[in-house]
Amino acid sequence: MKNNRAFHLIALFAFASIYLASCNSDKPTTTPESEVKKEVIENIAIPDFSSEKALDLVKKQVAFGPRVPNSTGHQQCGDFLIKSLSETADTVIVQKATVLSFDDKQLKIRNIIASFNTENPSRVMLCAHWDTRPFSDQDATVKTKPIPGANDGGSGVAVLLEIARLLKENKTKIGVDIILFDAEDYGQPDAVMQREKADSYCLGSQYWAKNLHQFGYMPRYGILLDMVGGAGATFRQEEGSMEFAPSVVQKVWNAAGRIGYGNYFLNEPTRAITDDHYYINQIANIPTIDIIHNDRSTASNFYKHWHTLQDSPENIDPATLKAVGQTLLEVVYREK
Ligand SMILES: [Zn+2]
Repeated sequence: MKNNRAFHLIALFAFASIYLASCNSDKPTTTPESEVKKEVIENIAIPDFSSEKALDLVKKQVAFGPRVPNSTGHQQCGDFLIKSLSETADTVIVQKATVLSFDDKQLKIRNIIASFNTENPSRVMLCAHWDTRPFSDQDATVKTKPIPGANDGGSGVAVLLEIARLLKENKTKIGVDIILFDAEDYGQPDAVMQREKADSYCLGSQYWAKNLHQFGYMPRYGILLDMVGGAGATFRQEEGSMEFAPSVVQKVWNAAGRIGYGNYFLNEPTRAITDDHYYINQIANIPTIDIIHNDRSTASNFYKHWHTLQDSPENIDPATLKAVGQTLLEVVYREK
């Protein structure tokens, strides 16, 4: 993803909620606490996300080598993901395409769509990118090697594969689609002195958004994961997510707080970024948020090993994978 998109927030939602609140004067001003709890937190069995299994899945992906489109590691890891999801999902669709990179390479890509509870037309979409960056352009010394992509690529996929395992064992009320996008991270390096090509990232999701795997596909909302395994990660409410899907941000952040992960999911804003969710919102009109590591102490505001050779499994903390995975389960299993 890239840190360059400026969005304008509309205050409409704020005004609307103030207006609605003021119109509720015929309701009692206080609600008994027990009633509130009953309404908000139903007693639903929510499966337990295994951080151990998720960490193993990160390592498994990294062991294939960098997952750069057109490489052997990419081919093999893609095959593994399809096989693995075929064992858990009701259906798996592989969307193949050839897309053009910023440096005029024909990239053979595969977007992988795994669906659960397919008979239910009400659906939610969980997604991440599975490819990894061909250049370590943020590395202090070596800038041209492909990155291991443990966090950037590996972590989001690992969380979703562990969720897939649980979705098979414990049925949700709502239908769930897990989508793994290809070629997110083949964007133009900052060091290349060419005209800026803003849309050179997110090639897989751009293709998918223009060519949906299913005619008229429209889940209630989407949740994108990107860099969700770093030690001590914090996730802030990204401006683009707040513009396109503020209620989804609220839902997810509330769920995290409710189950004790408020120290990861901070109720603080952060600036808009270009990631797969941007194209899903813009092109496919599916309200989609991005859960992405935001670090105020780094120049990029991303994970400190972002696009470097240190983005390796040693720097993944299973506790972060758990915080994100369990929060998504809390959201998805409560959907009716
Ligand atoms: Zn990246």
